[in-house]
Amino acid sequence: MTDEKTILVTGGAGFIGSFLCESLLEDGHIVICLDNFHTGSKKNIAHLLHRHKFEVVRHDVTTAIALEVDEIYNLACPASPIHYQFDPVKTVKTNVMGALNILELARHTKARVLQASTSEVYGDPAVHPQPETYQGNVNPIGPRACYDEGKRCAETLFFDYRRQFGLDLRVARIFNTYGPRMRADDGRVVSNFAVQALRGEPLTLYGSGLQTRSFCYVSDLVVGLKALMAAPVGTAGPINLGNPVEFTMVELAELVIELANSSSPLVYMPLPQDDPRQRKPDITQATERLGWRPTVPLREGLGHVIAYFDAELGRARPALRALDAAMPVPSGLVAGVGAGHHGKGSGNGADTGFERGRVR
Ligand code: NAD
Ligand code: UDP
Repeated sequence: MTDEKTILVTGGAGFIGSFLCESLLEDGHIVICLDNFHTGSKKNIAHLLHRHKFEVVRHDVTTAIALEVDEIYNLACPASPIHYQFDPVKTVKTNVMGALNILELARHTKARVLQASTSEVYGDPAVHPQPETYQGNVNPIGPRACYDEGKRCAETLFFDYRRQFGLDLRVARIFNTYGPRMRADDGRVVSNFAVQALRGEPLTLYGSGLQTRSFCYVSDLVVGLKALMAAPVGTAGPINLGNPVEFTMVELAELVIELANSSSPLVYMPLPQDDPRQRKPDITQATERLGWRPTVPLREGLGHVIAYFDAELGRARPALRALDAAMPVPSGLVAGVGAGHHGKGSGNGADTGFERGRVR
């Protein structure tokens, strides 16, 4: 166990935040989960409430807060396009005012602070794969701008606070991450496809379905976030965290249908405005500076997600439970059917999830 720290996780009741809180508790730290429960839920953290080192604060990051903490992970922000576009002005406020308030807290407490930034700062990228040096191609007035430009401005604030006040900070550019505890109505592609396949409904492909994304399982991301936080002073980043194995949305749909043993058809719908055509992280920096690389192949991670949603939808089937049970649970994180299924896994070192041929 490491030295005990008091760690604030904003957005801690969300999808990624709840796994991060859990992992930090496992490491022996005191964890303060701050959330306004906009897209997060108490259910995501219900299994942690009995832990004496776990505290929950209902608070909105757009308002300043005073807490004594050693480290801060700033995750508060809706991540799904339908949720962040529902109230775009609020999304900008959460990103910009939230970052300012969290940076002020870090300045006063001298806490190390990590910002959950995003691959969306690259917009619809003209460089492929995307290294951290690429400055992006973002439409500043489109429907995604509240999120993309909000996150870009947050990065600006982080680096200005570093230059002006000498803050010890880290910026992670997170690429598409998936796992159990995504909301069934989240609207992102993995949860949509899993729920549609399980319900026997058509899988909704936007545009040609040939646009690409690279999907990182949540346990891999949590390891990466903690590695970035633990890196030596001066490792500010930004650093890409994501799985560099790239898939078209058609390939993803076919894999989900296969794993869910579904006979759902595919249906094509209009492509949303400014939808990036391709996305794949260059993770050289993360590998060389943090020794980090993803370990969970998409096929394995999707198995956990499908079993999770099957249970959520109240119809867990024996075949899916067997599929989920057969898959190693990585990095000591919760996965699989329901929120209470714990397990320490190997991380499956030999099966890196990198080789496309191994994944599909
Ligand atoms: P999520 O929506 O599940 O979690 C976000 C959490 O922040 C929720 O619990 C929500 O209630 C909370 N929140 C939102 N606005 C808030 C506010 N004003 N004050 C306090 N709490 C607030 O999303 P997620 O997928 O877990 O994403 C977490 C973070 O990671 C976000 O900052 C997101 O931008 C970033 N990120 C996620 C992905 C991904 O693929 N999931 C990719 C890139 C970046
Ligand atoms: N997408 C899709 N069908 C869906 C939801 C999303 O084809 O039901 C597409 C979407 O247009 C995008 C990709 O899947 O090209 C990833 O979308 P998501 O919202 O998950 O993440 P982001 O666009 O933020 O990467």
